[in-house]
Amino acid sequence: MTTKPSDFYFPNPRSLHYCTQCANPLARIIPPDDNRVRDVCLQCGSVHYQNPRNVVGVIPIWENKILLCKRAIEPRYNTWTLPAGFMELKETSAEGALREADEEAGIAGIELGPLFSVIDVPSAGQVHIFYLATITQPELNPGPESLEARYFEFDAIPWDNLSFRTVSTTLEHYLADAKKGQFSIHYYSLDENH
Ligand SMILES: [Zn+2]
Repeated sequence: MTTKPSDFYFPNPRSLHYCTQCANPLARIIPPDDNRVRDVCLQCGSVHYQNPRNVVGVIPIWENKILLCKRAIEPRYNTWTLPAGFMELKETSAEGALREADEEAGIAGIELGPLFSVIDVPSAGQVHIFYLATITQPELNPGPESLEARYFEFDAIPWDNLSFRTVSTTLEHYLADAKKGQFSIHYYSLDENH
């Protein structure tokens, strides 16, 4: 059996079956001097820790309009999102946010602004981080992860068709701050059950 690239997927919940160091089947036990169950290799001793992942993105603004991208990938295919995605190794969160803006919208010119929202999502094992961003050249060239990228007037945001609560709550905070004319950092947590 062969797996085509289009068949690749990301299993959830995150757990490993085999050791990435020696390929031995893993045990799920509490390692000595630890306090929670981990995937542990009883052959080579590797402990495969699983920790939250960072999702980094931008709130891109062009002349009082906000840029959103329509997702061409699961989850939440065909819904609107702020440009955002998983942080890669060896980049800063700011670099990752700009990279995602480039990959998803292909904005010709963008300047990163201050940190705006930091949102813990414990149920998903994620932390979402959004930066303010000012677009300096509005031409767009969306990549394969986006069906479309479009500028929305503040009163025309497609609230009923947004991709994630981290996106909708970040937009709510952005509009409230824009109304006040004063932007601050918003830290909060969201859970699927609330
Ligand atoms: Zn091993």
